[in-house]
Amino acid sequence: MAIEVRNLSKRYGTFQAIKDVSFEVIAGQLVALLGPSGSGKSTILRIIAGLEVADTGGVLLTGEDATRLSVQERGVGFVFQHYALFRHMTVRNNIAFGLKVRKLPKSDIRARVDELLELVQLTGYAGRYPSQLSGGQRQRVALARALAPRPKVLLLDEPFGALDAKVRDELRVWLRKLHDEVHVTSLFVTHDQREAFEVADQFIVLNEGKVQQVGPPQSLYLRPSSPFVAQFLGQVNILPLETIQLGPRSESPFPSSLSELALQSDVQIYVRPHDMEVQRERNGRPCWRARVERLTPLGGVVRMDLSINGDHRIQLELISDQTLDLEFAPGDTVFVTPRHMNVFDAQSHTFHPVVLGRETEARA
Ligand code: ADP
Ligand code: MG
Repeated sequence: MAIEVRNLSKRYGTFQAIKDVSFEVIAGQLVALLGPSGSGKSTILRIIAGLEVADTGGVLLTGEDATRLSVQERGVGFVFQHYALFRHMTVRNNIAFGLKVRKLPKSDIRARVDELLELVQLTGYAGRYPSQLSGGQRQRVALARALAPRPKVLLLDEPFGALDAKVRDELRVWLRKLHDEVHVTSLFVTHDQREAFEVADQFIVLNEGKVQQVGPPQSLYLRPSSPFVAQFLGQVNILPLETIQLGPRSESPFPSSLSELALQSDVQIYVRPHDMEVQRERNGRPCWRARVERLTPLGGVVRMDLSINGDHRIQLELISDQTLDLEFAPGDTVFVTPRHMNVFDAQSHTFHPVVLGRETEARA
């Protein structure tokens, strides 16, 4: 394990910011520490870096107890959103900073900086000052500076947070590629789930100072362990189970183990906007009868706002062509069938994933 965090807790006055947080990061992975603003992400990162002291718990770096080591002794590199470059130093001297502190021979420093300039695609910019760079270029220099002393782990705290959307997109792709080349164990903090999906091998989802769920991004998306994770990782419609019209008995969408759930009142369906099909006619499959309220073209997809029984609002997304073909309009009655949904039983606090197509096929 490159990073092990064990039972960390941290209070600020009476406020418990971090509550018994434990997780591990496998060597060579890029892991996203993901959660809403104020959930404790930066605090955890600062504790790992040695910039903050936890009240209880410990940190191991590459197997060694680092809990009592100084920032310098830990051998971590960091890039923070507001961890500015040295303004009075050239790009070359910024990147060389950590190497000069370690008193490496001049020729070695020069060679290492050249190597990093190439890695972050800034060869030719060595003599520039930070003020002569774009925001994206500055963060690439910051990353090169962090990587220069070959840190054991790299900690990134919303490193692209201050950049505009297009540059952020480019840098994410770039960071992922760079990580595939250098494989330095990285912990990437972000509140943006899209950004996390773009770059990370693993997610650690945090809320209110507690770890909610850990795992590969796609499995958390498809199989969230709590309503929080389901809602945080992407838009989701939540509807009481009784709103769905099951149709003929044999077409019940629920595996037999779940059919009893349908009798309970606090069971809800979680279904994502892209996990539904919409038709003009009822086709015998389980569906919602809905009224089209609004159509919003969003480029590649069209968002459809629907109402069910007048009081439940849902959103779904269709590929643009499909909507044009079917020519839906506000006021129309449509039938909506979920392809994939999660049935949440509030009593046992568990999700049961249901893939409708497969269920139907299995029975046919
Ligand atoms: P995040 O990075 O996820 O947005 P932080 O780790 O910065 O969250 O903060 C977690 C919580 O701890 C927040 O409610 C924040 O206000 C509080 N907090 C962070 N640092 C301090 C501090 N130095 N003093 C008091 N409260 C703090
Ligand atoms: Mg933060």
